[in-house]
Amino acid sequence: MLELEEARQRLFDAIQPLPAETVPLSQAAGRVLVEAVASPIDLPAFDNSAMDGYAVRSADVAAGGPQSPVTLKLVGHVPAGTVFVGTVQPGTCVRVFTGSPLPDGADAVVMQEDTRTEPDQAVLVLDRVKPWENVRFRGEDVKAGAVLAQVGEVITPGRVGLMAAGGISSVNVHRRPIVGLLATGSELVEAGQPLLPGKIYESNRCMLEPLLVRSGAVAKVFPLVPDKLDATCAALKQALDECDAVVTSGGVSVGELDFVKAAFEKLGGAMDFWRVAIKPGKPFVFGRCHRKFLFGLPGNPVSALVTFLLLVRPTLRRWQGATDVLPPITHGILAEALVNHGDRRHFMRVRVDEDGAVRSCGAQASHLLSSLARANGLLEVPPNSTLAAGSHVRVIRIDD
Ligand code: AMP
Ligand code: MG
Repeated sequence: MLELEEARQRLFDAIQPLPAETVPLSQAAGRVLVEAVASPIDLPAFDNSAMDGYAVRSADVAAGGPQSPVTLKLVGHVPAGTVFVGTVQPGTCVRVFTGSPLPDGADAVVMQEDTRTEPDQAVLVLDRVKPWENVRFRGEDVKAGAVLAQVGEVITPGRVGLMAAGGISSVNVHRRPIVGLLATGSELVEAGQPLLPGKIYESNRCMLEPLLVRSGAVAKVFPLVPDKLDATCAALKQALDECDAVVTSGGVSVGELDFVKAAFEKLGGAMDFWRVAIKPGKPFVFGRCHRKFLFGLPGNPVSALVTFLLLVRPTLRRWQGATDVLPPITHGILAEALVNHGDRRHFMRVRVDEDGAVRSCGAQASHLLSSLARANGLLEVPPNSTLAAGSHVRVIRIDD
């Protein structure tokens, strides 16, 4: 049985980053760059006003103030998107707005609130300004040639904004993986169908599909698969044909009706590993078939979710070229003791309050969905140990 980190390393070692494709910047959020993007221009591209007001020569108003206002002659207007032709001479000023290019000759902007307009193009300046006050400088944000976004970084909305400001209209990113989603189990019934004796509603695919999408994959959901070897082979074959990887749920334990591994091997696949020393989620399977991959999740919904978040999502992100792929962590303080009597690391469902207090979400058996629904985190409790109340703990966030 592998430790979690060994299992994750085996997964990362098995995948090569997916090939590149060019996408419009507007569709690039969440993707990962193949090559760094540099800015072709300075940002801001020119010195400009940070305020609605008047561009002045600061020396002209250095002696000013509410008691001794200075009168300047208004010689021009620079609405956004235009430039002032000429130079601001001593004793004059130019009307500017936020973002207007700073006229030549001016070295500061007096905000509108500190002025009064008078007849005959006169502007009364009621406060002094220091040189370069209320001026935003060319290149102060980004110098031309500087990197706007790095290889391996997930493109956030903020990075999209930065690249757009630099005039970038498309980017080279790693292709998204197409991932098939299968649920196995003869007990499973589709929502909307009557629930006959012994049957249960299938709940893993609709839980995992949005997680696949949020992991950057294109999800393809397949029909339910009964616990029969030939049906499992047929379903796996179709999914492997149509996708880059397949995520299955159920059918990976030791029961004689658990056919996922056998079907995968029958199709020519090879198991890379089976079983990880975590709770929940021990029977997780990883296999390869030519250039395609099988992530076999246990069927218990909590086990399926936990193994997806701890093992599959980081791998899908790595596959898309991301460097920083581990689940997000938050810190908190345990409000109650948590005990793990078992010999595997237990990832317990917990809730972290706004004040940082961490509490168990209740009973932790891997078929119990209500504690999963309440949880916003997973807290690792080491084997055969107790985390005392008051301990500082790292919690894996599962609400992102
Ligand atoms: P298995 O991993 O196939 O042995 O399934 C373990 C448990 O999870 C059983 O109680 C199954 O009924 C349940 N289960 C398996 N797949 C699903 C599913 N897709 N939705 C809900 N429960 C499931
Ligand atoms: Mg089953």
